[in-house]
Amino acid sequence: MTYKTVTLKRGKEESLERFHPWVFSGAIAAADETIEEGDLVTVYAHDGTLIGNGHSQIGSIAVRMLTFDDTAIDEAFYEQRLTDAYMMRKALGLQREDNNAFRLVHGEGDFLPGLVVDIYGPTAVMQAHSPGMHFARDIIARALTKLPDGIVRNVYYKSETTLPYKAHLDPMNDYIIGGMETDEALENGLRFHVDWLKGQKTGFFVDQRENRSLLEHYSKGRKVLNMFCYTGGFSVYALRGGAELVHSVDSSAKAVRLTDDNVALNFAPEDQRHQSFAEDAFKFLDNMEKDAYNLIILDPPAFAKHKSALRNALMGYRRLNAKALEKMPHGSILFTFSCSQAVNKEQFRLAVFSAAAQTRRKVRILHQLTQPADHPINIYHPEGEYLKGLVLYVE
Ligand code: SAH
Repeated sequence: MTYKTVTLKRGKEESLERFHPWVFSGAIAAADETIEEGDLVTVYAHDGTLIGNGHSQIGSIAVRMLTFDDTAIDEAFYEQRLTDAYMMRKALGLQREDNNAFRLVHGEGDFLPGLVVDIYGPTAVMQAHSPGMHFARDIIARALTKLPDGIVRNVYYKSETTLPYKAHLDPMNDYIIGGMETDEALENGLRFHVDWLKGQKTGFFVDQRENRSLLEHYSKGRKVLNMFCYTGGFSVYALRGGAELVHSVDSSAKAVRLTDDNVALNFAPEDQRHQSFAEDAFKFLDNMEKDAYNLIILDPPAFAKHKSALRNALMGYRRLNAKALEKMPHGSILFTFSCSQAVNKEQFRLAVFSAAAQTRRKVRILHQLTQPADHPINIYHPEGEYLKGLVLYVE
């Protein structure tokens, strides 16, 4: 199957021969004049060798590759890729009686660049980051309902905040198939309301599942501060882990309400261990008493969305971590994260190192955390690695 054509400059096929899924605009020698954003295109090397098919896009990434041969990009293609993605999650044991929240499709990590799908019980929440995936939304939604085990009955499509060049694309936030059945999902036996209609991203951060589990094991008898709590994931795990108290902080009043709701969903009203605060994290840390918490979670939004913001982001991570470190008592534990893709592991660790040195604390690294296996990293696309975390023992 061939589509409109793109021909690369001499030598620019090299990264594609190693299956890197992006064609940058500067690599293109010639392209069909009729190509429109989101069209399927066939990419050829300078000597005419077919490289594969992909979605075209305006911008520095001009094509996102879907195949490295001439396979047609039709409903059968999506059914196959989605089934492969689901079989992998099944192998990971994520679809269980006590767990039905997981990421089914993680863009390039599932060989579907531009597409994200999270599963919450019977509902798939789908986001397109590329025009090509936006145009394919209906066949993708249909393919989702054909997955083995019939796991998906409803497909909610949410692209208003994710699509580039919005004006030309008519993004939508609506059900493509089915409707609201339940907003409740289960993660490791804990219940969460997921607000895909109004919440951030797909409504919940499934990428912290394993890190929350680890936190649960450290929570017994501790005074826990969950900073940047959003839906309260870490708070609920800390409470189940036997924390003495849990305080949740988020600058968004709505996030604080979501956290309160999720605590109420899992614990009896008599359980008074939890309190939440709609406040700025930096201010809260400035005003908090010394030694108030001996287990702190710092999971801020991405400080650097682009490489250009890197320096400021690193300063932000240093400042935030220093504020927490300087007030923690002897024998405390700090879970600290960065989800900025532009900040790598070493840079993040250096920012935390600077915070430790600046506050003159004795700090040991207990764990180095990353994204879970349902957010896989395509070995040919190392840019897919984004979540970094450190668990520190502070004296
Ligand atoms: N830890 C969460 C995810 C955090 S997302 C989880 O496990 O699900 C980041 C959160 O930080 C968002 O809810 C956002 O409202 C909040 N936020 C952003 N800037 C903030 C600030 N300056 N102070 C406090 N919260 C902030």
